Amino acid sequence: MADLRKKRVITAALCGSWPTRDMNPAVPYTPEEIAEEAYRCWKAGAAIVHIHVREPDGTPSIRYELYEETIQRIRAHKDCDVCLNITSSGTVDGVDEDRIDPIRRLLPELASYDAGTLNWQNRTIFENHPRFLEKLGHALQEVNVKPEIEVFDAGMIYNTIYYMKTGVLKAPCHYQFVLGCAGGMTSTVENLVHLKSILPEGSTWAACGISSGHLPIMMATIAMGGHLRVGLEDNLYLDRGVLAKSNVDLVERAVKLLKLNNLEPATPDEAREIYGLTRKVF
Ligand code: ZN
Repeated sequence: MADLRKKRVITAALCGSWPTRDMNPAVPYTPEEIAEEAYRCWKAGAAIVHIHVREPDGTPSIRYELYEETIQRIRAHKDCDVCLNITSSGTVDGVDEDRIDPIRRLLPELASYDAGTLNWQNRTIFENHPRFLEKLGHALQEVNVKPEIEVFDAGMIYNTIYYMKTGVLKAPCHYQFVLGCAGGMTSTVENLVHLKSILPEGSTWAACGISSGHLPIMMATIAMGGHLRVGLEDNLYLDRGVLAKSNVDLVERAVKLLKLNNLEPATPDEAREIYGLTRKVF
């Protein structure tokens, strides 16, 4: 296997729950569109795709059938071994069981684990009750799906340290810092350095900055040895005033930046090795 120190994992976050086609017409909504973006992003160099689903009109959803069709369509590409990451937070008001059910039944390699509650975009509460986090942590261990711990604020890392002590999470963990959401930490290099400095030893980490923080956080993450997340969930633009035409544009730019730094995008199997994932291609 190639020297993994020269490899960085790119995750493509294809649509999230927040952006709409009014903001960028390229945001995929249907299972078919999301699966196609996933396949194209894998071809462009993404090792992992992070999946949310939408109702046909774009409303954020956690309906099982939509996840199922999306995952089946991705897995139908027999040449594609991309790692799957299903969100556990597709809507802000989901019932605990409905948030966990698609992960339990569809068995991705990773599932997001938002390690705390926050005021979301100054509009609502993004609730991750301790009861839910305990349930989700145990459920993921039962089905051998690795939590991708999403961190919007430093306190969330300390929550995960508590959960490692109580057996809800199993070390070493993988962290995804999301900087620049209103209600969480802003996308500054100082914040990124601080978050990295308080990670438990042996953790792996990736980072993304939302919107205008996207490029600066990506550059800093490359310099600091972290892995990358790109995609329309986080950032709709390729340049000032220029919308990305698809998620692929954003993956291609990340690949270019890695190469400029004498690095290479990790393949899905390399990403499995780096993050400690159990291969699940069906
Ligand atoms: Zn997400």
